[in-house]
Order: sequence, then C-alpha cells, then structure tokens
Amino acid sequence: NRRNPHQPEFVQAVQEVAQDIFEFIEDKERYHSEQILRRLTEPDRIVSFRVCWEDDKGDIRVQRGWRVQNNNAIGPYKGGLRFHPSVTESVLKFLAFEQTFKNALTGLPMGGGKGGSNFNPKGKSDREIMRFCQSFMTELYRHIGPDTDVPAGDIGVGSREIGYMFGQYKRITNHFTGVLTGKGLEFGGSPFRPESTGYGAVLFLCHMLSHRDDAIDGKTLVISGAGNVATHAAEKAVQLGGKVVTLSDSDGFVYDPDGFDQEKIDWVRRLKEENDGSLSAYPEEFSNAEFHEGKRPWQVECDIAMPCATQNELCKDDAKTLIDNGCMAVVEGANMPTELEAAHVIKDAKILFGPGKAANAGGVAVSGLEMSQNSARRTWEQVELEQMLQDIMKGIHERCLKHGEQDDGYVDYVKGANIAGFKKVADAMLAFGVV
Ligand code: NDP
Repeated sequence: NRRNPHQPEFVQAVQEVAQDIFEFIEDKERYHSEQILRRLTEPDRIVSFRVCWEDDKGDIRVQRGWRVQNNNAIGPYKGGLRFHPSVTESVLKFLAFEQTFKNALTGLPMGGGKGGSNFNPKGKSDREIMRFCQSFMTELYRHIGPDTDVPAGDIGVGSREIGYMFGQYKRITNHFTGVLTGKGLEFGGSPFRPESTGYGAVLFLCHMLSHRDDAIDGKTLVISGAGNVATHAAEKAVQLGGKVVTLSDSDGFVYDPDGFDQEKIDWVRRLKEENDGSLSAYPEEFSNAEFHEGKRPWQVECDIAMPCATQNELCKDDAKTLIDNGCMAVVEGANMPTELEAAHVIKDAKILFGPGKAANAGGVAVSGLEMSQNSARRTWEQVELEQMLQDIMKGIHERCLKHGEQDDGYVDYVKGANIAGFKKVADAMLAFGVV
C-alpha cells in the first residue's frame, strides 16, 4: 500500500497472490535472497501518454493512454488493451500483474502486459472510434513489436478496434508483422480466437467437475456479462448440456427460466455488437424472461456461477447467497471479478473456485497460437485450434492440481495457479541474475 498509494486494484491483486507465494517460498532461500516477488510486483516499465482525437463535431478531445509492461522473463509482453472510462493505472497494473501468471500457466512463451485508455467507446460513431484508435497507436507503436510486446483486445476493444490499430501500425512502420492479436482473418487473425476465452473457461470448469467425478450436463448456470466472454461461455455450456439462466450488462441482468439457447445467445450478441443495445430489451423479445434493473445475477439459484463481466462484481454477500442457494462452483471468466473477501468465503465453504488466471487463460493461449501462426506465415484450421485449446486447458488444470491439491482432497485452484505461474516466471528470472 505504501509503495502503491491510491492503487487499490493493484494492491488487491498482489495481496491475493502474495499469501500463497509466501507460503511456497518459505523454505526456498533463493527466491527470498533474490527478491523475486518484490521484483515481480514492480512493473518493468509503464508508458503513459496523451491521446488527442477529433470528434464528429470537430471538437478536440483528450484522453490518457497506458501500456504496462509487467514482466518479460519467459517471452514478449502480452496482454489486452481496454477502452473503458473506469481504466486507471491501478487497474492496468493489476491486470498486467495477473496476466504474467496467467500467461505462464498456459505453458506458452509469453510475458505479461496490459494497456488501454479511459476513453469511453459507448455512443461514439465508427469514425470517432477509428480516429481514437489511430491516435492511440500513433504513440503506442514505438513501444511494441512482435518480439517485444504484442497487445490484444479486452473490454471495449474488439476486432474492429484491433483492425484500426493494426492499420495504423502498418502505416507508420511499413511492417506487416504479428504485432497485435485478435486480428481479422483476412490479415493474420486466428480462427477460433473469439470463442476461446469463454469456451476455455467452460472446459476448465468441466475438468474441475470431472476431478470430482461430476459433469456439467444438467447443471444450472448463472453467468454475468453479455460480451465476448459471457456469450461464448454460455454457448459452450449449453452445447455440453448445461442450462444457462442469466446474462447481465451495465444496466442489470436478465433471468430466463427457460434457459438461453443458441438463438437467444445470437440475439444478445447482435444486440451488443451491432446495436450497442441494453439487455433491458430482452423480455420484449422473449416473453418468459425478466429484466432486473441495476442488479447482479447472484441471487438466482444455481449450481454454477460464472462471473464474466468485469472486476469486483461478486462481493462477500453475493458469495454467501450463492452458497446458501446450493451453488457448488464459481468459475471466473472475467479478470478478478470476485472480491478478496468473497473469495475467502467461497474457499472456506470448500466449494470449487476457478480463478480467472487459470479459467480464462484460453483466450491468451489462442492469442499465443496466433503469434505462432503469424511467425510461420500460415493458418491452422479451426478444429486443430480447438484441439490445441482443449490440451492447453487440460494442462492448466493439471498444473493447478500439482500445487493446489490439499491433504483432505480439496483443490485450492487459486493457490495452485498462483504457485505454478510464479514458479515458471521466478525460475527464469533467477537464471538471468539480477537485472
Ligand atoms: P466485453 O466488452 O465484450 O463485455 C463486457 C461485458 O461486461 C458487457 O456486457 C458489459 O456491459 C459488462 N460490463 C463491463 N463493465 C461493467 C461494469 N462496470 N458493471 C457491469 N457490467 C459491466 O468484454 P469481454 O467479454 O472481452 O471481457 C469481460 C471480462 O473478461 C473482462 O474482465 C476481461 O478482462 C476478461 N477477459 C477477456 C478476455 C477476452 O478474450 N475477451 C480474455 C481474458 C479475460 P455493457 O454491454 O453494458 O457494456
């Protein structure tokens, strides 16, 4: 807290990891004497810059942009860009820190970074988005590169924004390289990238369940969010026989007692992607459903909860409600959606808890595969990528088990993920000496 004043999200993320790491390194002198955790919690570099752009009325608008390059011990910095008014340096530092562990867990050679801006894309015209993205990249381009730092999308940054930024990078540098992931299929993007985070999270959930001789088939799921991660998690869960009864957005949540099917999920996707709409319109289209304005979905009875919207969207009381209602697993599709106290409530109740850095790592893993395809100047087929994602999620689950399985059989996935991610990065840092 003293070193990072006014950065609550970053301090929260470090605290969550530090508890497990302290325990792990207690009898491992080298990690102490080389100050590995201390070094990991100080980003390698933070670039902070002004982004000026012109709106449709001809007025000049000014935003702040950042790139946090947290750690490149095992590969180039890698992590998304977020455009949202809630973006601060603290939020991006927490995300870059988490990303370092997550990327290590995938088994692929990627370091950790994150970036973005406090720009609000809501209500902006397509041309305004384009001008903002171009202006953002006009500064960012000098700090990134296919072997240096490879940004991707996140909240508010989808394939359209990546396209505008890639176009600007190419224009300035005259290089066609894999400097961003999440690109369009026409210019080096990977098939299966949009599906990979949500699908991966559900695959991870399935591994957690099967480790307890259980399965997703017939289970009721409550999912928050209505964006990329939430809709793809819902889609995969339904494909595997689960019943998804909620989705949510910044306005509230929809409860559909009949469950979402593919048609309804597609409708939500169109509502968000094409019309920037609100889920409050859902009950007009599907009459059995209810919209709960300003509320989160955790009060709805379920077997499995998947927070897939944003950070700190599931608090202590929500966790208690879920447990009282018989929920058996919480799996994070979003990054740090569960407050620290809520995570403790969940772990104390010994119900399954899949942390984001493990459960949502499928997205960055397929981004890593996009980097490989770009380097080799080739494209793999969707089925090949889907198989690779399955193998990667299985590997992540095994790494979590290795360090998280307790004497009574309960698996502490948070601890498992923290230690497995830390160990890989820390061992690389030790090999480099004091740098
Ligand atoms: P999207 O922008 O596609 O969707 C985000 C969803 O969350 C929207 O429905 C949005 O509502 C809702 N939301 C955002 N902020 C808030 C808030 N403050 N309160 C309530 N609802 C909110 O983002 P993604 O689906 O890509 O990302 C969701 C989460 O998953 C983030 O934490 C992201 O970091 C994480 N993640 C994403 C990956 C990816 O591949 N996309 C990879 C790994 C993690 P509205 O529609 O009203 O804007």
